[in-house]
Amino acid sequence: MKLETLAIHAGRQVDPATGALRDPLHLSTTFERDVDGDYPRGYHYTRSGNPNRTSLERAVAALERGHEAVAFGSGSAATLAVFNLAAPGGRIVCGADCYYGTAKQLREIVPGWGVEVEFVDTTNLAAVEAALGRGRTSLLWFETPTNPMLQVSDIASLVELAHARGALVGCDNTFASPVLQRPLTLGADLAMHSTTKYLGGHSDVLGGVVVTREAGRGLDGLRHFQSIGGGVPSPFDCWLVLRSLATLPLRVRQQAANALAVAHFLHADRRRVQAVHYAGLPDHPGHRVALRQMDGGFGAVLSLEVPGGKEPALAVAARVKLFTRATSLGGVESLIEHRASIEGPQSQTPPGLLRLSIGLEHAEDLIADLDQALNAA
Ligand SMILES: *Cc1c(COP(=O)(O)O)cnc(C)c1O
Repeated sequence: MKLETLAIHAGRQVDPATGALRDPLHLSTTFERDVDGDYPRGYHYTRSGNPNRTSLERAVAALERGHEAVAFGSGSAATLAVFNLAAPGGRIVCGADCYYGTAKQLREIVPGWGVEVEFVDTTNLAAVEAALGRGRTSLLWFETPTNPMLQVSDIASLVELAHARGALVGCDNTFASPVLQRPLTLGADLAMHSTTKYLGGHSDVLGGVVVTREAGRGLDGLRHFQSIGGGVPSPFDCWLVLRSLATLPLRVRQQAANALAVAHFLHADRRRVQAVHYAGLPDHPGHRVALRQMDGGFGAVLSLEVPGGKEPALAVAARVKLFTRATSLGGVESLIEHRASIEGPQSQTPPGLLRLSIGLEHAEDLIADLDQALNAA
């Protein structure tokens, strides 16, 4: 079935007890067993399994064209579960331009498990091959497009390099969503989402999910970490994300179209804008790879750099009226953020960079807001 149909029907069924179209919320933490201790309906304790979580997992697995999905209480809990697959004694090679919290886990938590970590520029295949060969690598992990530089990595080529050396491949697909890019169909073993972003889509629920391509490639370890580690989403969190999935294709395509319009506007303004980072622009270094592996758009996050560095950038962010100054992305409302201030003194992000998460407002209103705000720089 097509994505739009799966977004509405996968994981859903009419409630057999009441005929309700929407899933009832299963708040019960515990479930009745048979006299012999069996639990024929599949549930015994909500940390190990909950009907709302099952519905969400089925729906996301279908959208990613995967085998099974494993849901967590946040995107960060999901990445930590993946990294735990390499423990103890494994080795993880991770894309250098990755989510700030992911890098923090790999620097501050994962090495304590006896796992070796190396960061590498995944847009450079020769560098990746060298990094994979510097030890027995258990996992190659990367994002595309990245945050906040919007770099594009070639998923199929990375899979080929990593599989040749016996490493699992995982892709954080949060920025693209399954609407625009499906890493599992390009050979990746794991696709992960912070459902806090596009899957949730309304800036009102935190969550994460990992989807496996087939049985046996990390699935048992993820299930174990989910139920024994216990970082699970609440039934209502699952319900909210499942509800949001129905509109995911419409939202993401329109947000990506808005982002492309905003990117073209900024790109044409050579006087007030020094650089625009967005894979949909023909002069972006990853444009051709993005055309090959994404479809229906290039995502709805982009970054611009204003001349003069931090002060003019902050002045632009101070002057927007429609955009909200806030972190995160993927919601229906547009956000602006000065990344270097958020990331702190060790940040590699250019000081004049502003990241935009483009929402579902009309593109012309967003452009008008940026147009007046740029006069501040
Ligand atoms: C937000 C985000 C995460 C972390 O997700 P949380 O739900 O905030 O824990 C991981 N990867 C990417 C690309 C993100 O944008």
